Amino acid sequence: MSYFNIDAQAQNTYDAIVIGSGISGGWSAKELTGKGLRTLVLERGRDVRHITDYPTTMTQPWEFEHRGQLTHEMKEANPIISRCYAFYEGTHQFFVKDAEHPYVQEKPFDWIRGYQVGGKSLMWARQTQRWSDFDFDGPARDGFAVDWPIRYADLAPWYSYVERFAGITGNKDGLPNLPDGEFLPPHEWNCVEKHFQKEVAKRYKDRHVIMGRAAHITQPQPIHFQQGRAQCQHRTICERGCPFGGYFSSNASTIPWAAKTGKLTLRPNSVVHSIIYDEQKGKATGVRVVDTETKQMKEYYARIIFLNAAALNSNLVLLNSTSRRFPNGLGNDSGTLGKYVAFHNYRAGISAEFDGNLDSTTDGRRPNSPYIPRFRNLYKQETDFLRGYAAGFTAGRATKTNQEGFGADLKNNLLNPTLGGWHVGSHMMGETIPKESSYVALDSNLKDPFGIPQLKINIGYDDNDDKMVKDYQEQMTEMFTAAGFTNIRLRDDHRNPGLDIHEMGGVRMGKDPKTSMLNKWNQLHAVKNVFVTDGASMTSTSTQNPSLTYMAMSARSADYAVKEMKKGLL
Ligand SMILES: Cc1cc2nc3c(=O)[nH]c(=O)nc-3n(C[C@H](O)[C@H](O)[C@H](O)COP(=O)(O)OP(=O)(O)OC[C@H]3O[C@@H](n4cnc5c(N)ncnc54)[C@H](O)[C@@H]3O)c2cc1C
Ligand code: SF4
Repeated sequence: MSYFNIDAQAQNTYDAIVIGSGISGGWSAKELTGKGLRTLVLERGRDVRHITDYPTTMTQPWEFEHRGQLTHEMKEANPIISRCYAFYEGTHQFFVKDAEHPYVQEKPFDWIRGYQVGGKSLMWARQTQRWSDFDFDGPARDGFAVDWPIRYADLAPWYSYVERFAGITGNKDGLPNLPDGEFLPPHEWNCVEKHFQKEVAKRYKDRHVIMGRAAHITQPQPIHFQQGRAQCQHRTICERGCPFGGYFSSNASTIPWAAKTGKLTLRPNSVVHSIIYDEQKGKATGVRVVDTETKQMKEYYARIIFLNAAALNSNLVLLNSTSRRFPNGLGNDSGTLGKYVAFHNYRAGISAEFDGNLDSTTDGRRPNSPYIPRFRNLYKQETDFLRGYAAGFTAGRATKTNQEGFGADLKNNLLNPTLGGWHVGSHMMGETIPKESSYVALDSNLKDPFGIPQLKINIGYDDNDDKMVKDYQEQMTEMFTAAGFTNIRLRDDHRNPGLDIHEMGGVRMGKDPKTSMLNKWNQLHAVKNVFVTDGASMTSTSTQNPSLTYMAMSARSADYAVKEMKKGLL
């Protein structure tokens, strides 16, 4: 019998385990397998294969039973997830349904999740800006969180590394607060967006309207063809999965690349329950997994573990990994695990009309839009709130169809729509402050369908966020007015935190093990063979979208981990 156990253990033993197959897990898997490690990727959701498992990617609007809309029943059954703009009849298969994976909202929090191979990389909006030293220096300058143990220079070569492989479109804009990257040709502007760019540049030295940087292949390079990916066709239905691999997803890019090495074992339907800590060895030896089909618990072993379950789930796994040495969660000597969680604030928006350029319109579709990088509190503290916000911007012309008349008249009206005026709009992307009081924890009573404690979320807005919303609205009104836009309308939808899908922190990086969980290599201070390289590791949130930074961190940490392993230090 003991022989059987040893055999079983050997069969379940790998060089590395990666928990989660989304944006960060895909990168960890690609790097670890690429460096020769036999790597097991554990994914709680079902398998989703590139192309074959995108059931609606070629569906025409009229082919959907409900013309692409959600039914009333679907909305009723999913009050949280149906608030996400990307959840509709063509994409619902990629989002977690509210009732299936319960959690506790001590304060309202819309937790938007994708549990499948590829995670949220299938449905993301693909905006990819580098962070700058203004972001990594922020906490040290403003004192709102602990100092980051890294600076932009530590990540810069890794940003380049992941950008070249993923394929990022953008302009070299030369802005210190938004470092340039390795860009494919940028997307096109329309004339009203150009007009706004010029009007802003005329009046403000420190404000810029630039073309968004996004994970789309506008001009494929040999490395993209080697992945089996092709040029983006500008269909703008990316969140259904792209059969061309026109945008970056784990499914189209990193996971198949890792599989080609022959070193990858991908195990879908495997919910990681906890990480196993061996007190004698002083390190983690493996993970406990609940098989979602059999509901049986299994164990898998490895020398190093990469935790990439997405920010809040990575917190959950560590909180649930208790032992005599770590009664409050793995690596939690500081007592900070689950705390200092923050998010992005996309609450406010502005829209208006423009009477100019009525001789022009747009043609075709563009899966991207212009972007206004943060301009507040960069070089000095100039407002009564900390940090700042970036903003999206778009302009477009709607068509108007006259639906009046009968017979030939009606037909004629329907076939000859007229162009409406220009509409312009923007939404804010604000940084929120990580606070000890913003936390996640395990509920002591409620369990999920796999017998794992439910996550309890307690995160809310504060005064800083309200002041930031007000300032965004004032500054954008000023800029819109200066550009000649009229009928300006402001919005603050007071949406629940979480709906912006950029939650971060809880397992933060820092120099001091007394006040942080991870060192500068995303490695648990107290358990050196465990690495957390997703949003849980973020010390502060910046205003930029975060996923490119998770990719760079995953690649950098994997490189370090393998080197340390080869030196016999892990
Ligand atoms: C509609 C939408 C728009 C977005 N737009 C942008 C954008 O423009 N730019 C940007 O930067 N970001 C954007 N995001 C956010 C982006 O998708 C996430 O930041 C990113 O996917 C996070 O990567 P991750 O690897 O941490 O998590 P995910 O990609 O979510 O992957 C985590 C994986 O871990 C699995 N998992 C979780 N728990 C366990 C467990 N216990 N055991 C095993 N597996 C587990 C999950 O099933 C999942 O597959 C958007 C997201 C959505 C939904
Ligand atoms: S816009 Fe590009 S990436 Fe998106 S679905 Fe179309 S081809 Fe694919």
